[in-house]
Amino acid sequence: MKAVGRCLIASAAALVSSLPLEASARDETIERLRLGSGFEIVIGERQADPGGQLLEALAIWVGAKLGQPVPTSLPMLVFKSPEQIAVLRFRQYASEMAQQQDQPNIISIYDARANIIYLRDTWKGATAADLSVLVHELVHHFQEVHQTKFECEAAREAKAFELQEKWLRLFGESLEEEFQIDPFTLLVRTSCAM
Ligand SMILES: [Zn+2]
Repeated sequence: MKAVGRCLIASAAALVSSLPLEASARDETIERLRLGSGFEIVIGERQADPGGQLLEALAIWVGAKLGQPVPTSLPMLVFKSPEQIAVLRFRQYASEMAQQQDQPNIISIYDARANIIYLRDTWKGATAADLSVLVHELVHHFQEVHQTKFECEAAREAKAFELQEKWLRLFGESLEEEFQIDPFTLLVRTSCAM
């Protein structure tokens, strides 16, 4: 995974802004995001407090893309070993983000009831790919809070992967490159009939 020193700048208090979400998102380029709380995301640096302003900045970006208000309560981030995350996956209803190469290899979980995003303890938030996992799970949080209805569980994944891909594209990366999720795999994982 690439870890280059590009900056993502989230600025302007979109949380309290009355501007339409699209308007606040239009300054987005490959290297900058003009959204959110003024928090600066530096790709290539470990996130010291990922559950704070970083999560808020990412949630504002997700909200702008979904056209939905940012939930007042964001999930808590809890770090676990890969083994513990695998165990959690089978213990509860939760959506998951899996690395494809050597499945079952769960790298994150959103637990809606506990309002927790579980991440691996190796997660540093230093790459666009790491951050994209948070984007993915945040989409599930929006779905939960806004009580979005889905035909099946797989359909729930479609928007989560769509935004994750959009995030990765900002950095010239992709689901296929970073997570080995090619278009066919994605179709299978997001279609009710499959
Ligand atoms: Zn998911």
